[in-house]
Amino acid sequence: MLVAPIAMIGVISICFFLVFVMRFPVEEMHITRAALINPATLIRAVGTFFRDNPSAIYWVLVWATLCGMVLIITLTVLTNMLAHSITKPITALAEAADKVSDGDLSFEVLGSQYGEIDDLCANFENMRQSLKRAEEKERLMKRERSMLLANISHDLKTPVTSIKGYIEGIRDGIADTPEKTEKYLDTIYAKAVAIDDMVNNLSTLSKLELSKLQFDFVMADFIGFLRDFINDYRLDLEKNNMELTLDLPNEKAYVKLDYEKMSRVIANIIDNAIKYKKGNSGSLAVSVTIEDGGVYAHFTDDGIGIENSELRKVFEGFYRVDAARSIKGSGLGLGIAKQIVEKHGGKIWLRSPGEGKGTTAEIYLPIIK
Ligand code: ATP
Ligand code: MG
Repeated sequence: MLVAPIAMIGVISICFFLVFVMRFPVEEMHITRAALINPATLIRAVGTFFRDNPSAIYWVLVWATLCGMVLIITLTVLTNMLAHSITKPITALAEAADKVSDGDLSFEVLGSQYGEIDDLCANFENMRQSLKRAEEKERLMKRERSMLLANISHDLKTPVTSIKGYIEGIRDGIADTPEKTEKYLDTIYAKAVAIDDMVNNLSTLSKLELSKLQFDFVMADFIGFLRDFINDYRLDLEKNNMELTLDLPNEKAYVKLDYEKMSRVIANIIDNAIKYKKGNSGSLAVSVTIEDGGVYAHFTDDGIGIENSELRKVFEGFYRVDAARSIKGSGLGLGIAKQIVEKHGGKIWLRSPGEGKGTTAEIYLPIIK
């Protein structure tokens, strides 16, 4: 940037020097070697020269004015460029701040070539991105909440409508024999129990999400706990024509465990294997592996399976895969299970090769040394 004005001043000076030397008898200055060494003699010789040639002063003034103009123009251009490159990003930041306060986050703050201003732009851009992420999260939460509400009202409306229908049937005398009346009452009772279960599950889920459910953790052997639990379930599985295979290592794996809550998780997984079997019978293989400081429990059934795209959604409250809609259930079991396992410091997930090909539920819990 400074090369151009320096070159211009150089060219102007050389031209002026040549014209000057041609026009004026500079040899009359009598600048001897001695005068060059002694500044006072040099000044005196130059002074004498300009007194004898007054028009030479005019040439020097023109030369100085031209050089001065080149310098002033250069300085003005430089100052403007500097101001522009500093004020531009600052103006952009001010506009960005206005947009943020108006709730508009759909822009990008570009950097600047100046270190500190660039840092400021980068910090602003980081802030904008985290605000945008928070906004997206809130949008998803709102969507989930309205879906949850829609599902709750749908799942409550169905049994309530059918209770109303059966009561009207009794009042209108459609149930005209004691047997029919009893059948109607049994159905009403079963529907009321389903509503009660749903409300209880919903209340448990919301307490878990708000961390208001008390946990009674103890250090316990997860493999021993699972063995006892599955053995208690054997009869149930047999009654439902489910063949059980149990493959547990002969070791102990100590984890922090709330017996009651973890029982609820395992019970839901086994109930799901029973509920979502294909046809009248099915199989359930339970196994445990110990890897990398954690214990992994696998529950594999050969039931109706789940599509890949649905595997995560089933952990959302009230979400039920279409194929399961006709089967009794509130769709809250896995949502509750996820919260409980996470409170144990673990993880739960489902795997399935696809619809009709069975499902594996897996639980991971960290082992406590
Ligand atoms: P609840 O457990 O509240 O009585 P539910 O069993 O329907 O009702 P979840 O246990 O949360 O609810 O399961 C959610 C959905 O995941 C089920 O409705 C079903 O669609 C699907 N699902 C869960 N486990 C299995 C499985 N083993 N095989 C096939 N589908 C399953
Ligand atoms: Mg369930």
